[in-house]
Parts: sequence; C-alpha cells; structure tokens
Amino acid sequence: MQLSKNFTLQELTITNTHLPNLPTEAEIARLQALVTSVLQPLRNMYGHQICVNSGFRSAAVNSAIGGATNSQHCTGEAADLDAADNAAIFQLIRQHLPFDQLIWEGGDNHQPDWVHVSFREANNRKQVLRMKVVGGKKKYESY
Ligand SMILES: [Zn+2]
Repeated sequence: MQLSKNFTLQELTITNTHLPNLPTEAEIARLQALVTSVLQPLRNMYGHQICVNSGFRSAAVNSAIGGATNSQHCTGEAADLDAADNAAIFQLIRQHLPFDQLIWEGGDNHQPDWVHVSFREANNRKQVLRMKVVGGKKKYESY
C-alpha cells in the first residue's frame, strides 16, 4: 500500500524479527500523517533515497529489539531514517519540518548513525535530542 509517492506501508512496518507487526487502522492513520507531514516533504527536499530502518513496531517487535516501553514507534508516530547523508536529513527536518521529537542517534559530531523522527497531529514538542552510547547504555541529551 502506497502512503505517498516514495513511501509504502510495507517499508514502514518492516521488521527482521519475524514477529507479527500489523498496525491497526488508527496506527496506519498515524503512519500516514508522519509520511504526509514529514517523510515525503523531507524526501522532496533531500532529493535522494531515504531508507526507513524501523517505523511501526508491535509490542512484541518492540520488546524483542529492546525498544523503550513508551516508544512512539508502537503508536505509529515514529520512524528511524537512514540516508547517504544523515546529518543533512537531520538539519532539513530541524529547520523546515514539523516534528514532535528529533534524535541524532549515535555516530559522531559529523554524522549520526541514523535519525529518529516522530510526529503527532497535535501538541508537537519540537524536542531535539542526541543519543550517545555510554558504557553500553543509551544516553539522551538536549541537542
Ligand atoms: Zn526510533
């Protein structure tokens, strides 16, 4: 199912866990809003392919991969993005697009390993964080 010109429901529900990962209609509606308001406009500005490493996660998938218990991936509001230039997509989102939470995930000062972005239809927090792995644990700080 095509959600926009460049994004499908299939890629937003991808998982390598082999566990069921079927979003409800309400979760699909949130994924659609994320694609319409953030991912497709981002793709248009960036002009190159953007891979979704993880979008929606069922509770089983989220627990299997050790995701945060209150993860917005479980509500269909978040996606992890990976492109040739992750710093560029991070800055494009930060400067031009609506978002709830934007996270520079891992990497170094030049490039994150991937970019997490979430979107809510109302009350977006515009929170920007950086995640660093310290002693094997994920640490989040304002960025
Ligand atoms: Zn994420």
